[in-house]
Amino acid sequence: MSDQLLLTGNVQEAAKKAIQWLINRRPIKELRDWGLAFSLWPPHFTTSCCGTEFGAFAAGRFDSERFGVLPFSSARQTNLLVIEGTLTRKMARAAKIVYDQMPEPKFVIAMGACSLEGGIFWNSYNTVLPSEIGIPVDIYTPGCPTRPEALARAIIQLQKRIMGDKSKNGEDKIKPMESYETKKE
Ligand code: SF4
Repeated sequence: MSDQLLLTGNVQEAAKKAIQWLINRRPIKELRDWGLAFSLWPPHFTTSCCGTEFGAFAAGRFDSERFGVLPFSSARQTNLLVIEGTLTRKMARAAKIVYDQMPEPKFVIAMGACSLEGGIFWNSYNTVLPSEIGIPVDIYTPGCPTRPEALARAIIQLQKRIMGDKSKNGEDKIKPMESYETKKE
């Protein structure tokens, strides 16, 4: 019985490696990256006033869905966390829980001056930066608050990073992420 289990375990492991090998082949990887880049699902995790601009980005005028961004999923189905402004110590704990629950591959955009370097709360005892609580940020957006247009630009930048951005002669303008797995290390 234990031999059978061992055999099943080995077959599963081999199948996993074969699938991993297959999806890292170029055409399939490109297709996967394209699908991922246009399937970004952030939860509406409002930490501060920048959240209103995130709401505007998702609403009719800016229409985030045309960028492939469908907001308001749950933490366990999401692949993009947008830190929407100031992160107080109390909210930092919730942000970390949400981030830890997200499945790989996952990405983070930090909105506004507050999440970049503290903004108007830069000297406060009660705020932290995402990097200080172990949330690695992929793209920062400027502004106080960040305008929806700037958030759209950040989304496009992230999509280019996921897919890689090539110039006409085929050189990388923005290198694709080596693999999402390396981000974990
Ligand atoms: Fe609020 Fe400005 Fe900070 Fe955004 S950057 S959370 S608008 S104070």
